[in-house]
Amino acid sequence: MIVMKFGGTSVEDASAIRRVMQIVEGRLQQQPVVVVSALAKVTDQLHTMARASGAGNRETATALARRLQERHTQVAAALLGQPAFEEFHPVLDEIFQNLNELLRGIAAVGELTPRSADHVLAYGEILSSKIVAAAFHAHKLPVTHADSRECIVTDQQFTRATPLLEETSSRLHKIIAPMLAAGRVPVMGGFIAATKAGITTTIGRGGSDFSAAIVGAGLGAERIEIWTDVDGMMTTDPNLCPDAHRIKNISFDEAAELAYFGAKVLHPATVLPAIQKNIPVYVLNSRNPNCEGTRISARPAKSRNFLKAIAAKKRITIIDIASPRMLLAHGFLKAIFDAFDRHRIAVDVVSTSEVSVSLTVDSNESIPALAAELAALADVKYEGRKAIICLVGENLREVPGIAAHVFGELQDIKIRMISQGASEINLSFVVEEEHVPEIVQRLHRKFFSDPDPDVFA
Ligand code: ASP
Ligand code: MG
Repeated sequence: MIVMKFGGTSVEDASAIRRVMQIVEGRLQQQPVVVVSALAKVTDQLHTMARASGAGNRETATALARRLQERHTQVAAALLGQPAFEEFHPVLDEIFQNLNELLRGIAAVGELTPRSADHVLAYGEILSSKIVAAAFHAHKLPVTHADSRECIVTDQQFTRATPLLEETSSRLHKIIAPMLAAGRVPVMGGFIAATKAGITTTIGRGGSDFSAAIVGAGLGAERIEIWTDVDGMMTTDPNLCPDAHRIKNISFDEAAELAYFGAKVLHPATVLPAIQKNIPVYVLNSRNPNCEGTRISARPAKSRNFLKAIAAKKRITIIDIASPRMLLAHGFLKAIFDAFDRHRIAVDVVSTSEVSVSLTVDSNESIPALAAELAALADVKYEGRKAIICLVGENLREVPGIAAHVFGELQDIKIRMISQGASEINLSFVVEEEHVPEIVQRLHRKFFSDPDPDVFA
């Protein structure tokens, strides 16, 4: 069996859902389980509704819910055709009646708890999975809707609950496996789940990829397909560098390094349950289904190019912390990191010398407060408008001298920090934000002018 996950833009309207049907129809032999996100933007809108209710703005919430109902009704009408739509309409009405009751209840209490937020957020995937299942049915595909809240079991950390893998796997075997054995195509919502006691949870924004990986891992899928609206992962951002190539094969570790750099294609957590079971994950384009996309696997074929990708992350601030007291002292770094922890600021690149430490963080408004606190320990300077350039490739681990090629190419550019990650497959350095396009283009020309056809398209 395989898992096919379709993201929000792949189910955003009737024509997108028609494409999904065609794609799934072409894979029936492979026994697909279909996992869908909410229609594009719906989770954000539900969030707004929930907050409005929590703040006592019942009117606002109800008005938004009405618009959501109109959109879903239109999509269903366009997809289903007369008799099927008439049958499905009461289902939609009931779902929205329940949503409205929930919003009224939250408004009456005047407080939005994470637990009630999850009840509201779940409607996006409840709706999308029911509409997609109804559409499959109307087109004579052998579909069975599966309620993810019965299949995916989590702890009680509402809004970012953690799946309990063993319990989930046994539910999947009990509920989904028999559907497959009977020749059915299960369609289920991503992102939503429930506690053991059956209370609705969600597993974190963007969590449908994670749902797909959990279902695939639980059922021992041959592959997991993440259907998006891009052709796959690229050697670099095509907006920065029009010569970017599609990466045909990438390792889990490389993909995880890139995920942090806003390769929005894939949520890093997706990778985890799949890695553990050695299941390949494909990133594919629902608008261009014949493109073979990117295959992410534990150990892909070696590439003869030094690098797999060049990523850049802008809006970075460098914080330089210097103190003669740091010399031979212990506990200094701990004191610094404790301060970052208290301000809940995540550190990305770190480099230290005997008397100083430089760190990068995503630019944000809590930095001045953090710097003020650190000033009690040391001299502190911070500077924004920086960027991290990150070079990724398994070959960085094995081929000597790559750094010389990189920095040889950039001799005239001021480099602020350099870090070769412990993962051994990334080399990162920090530069002025304004130099990013030039650096990326130069390095891309240097490292990808002769791409290995087995690895790059
Ligand atoms: N609909 C959810 C979100 O927007 C989950 C997902 O799309 O992956 O976060
Ligand atoms: Mg997504």
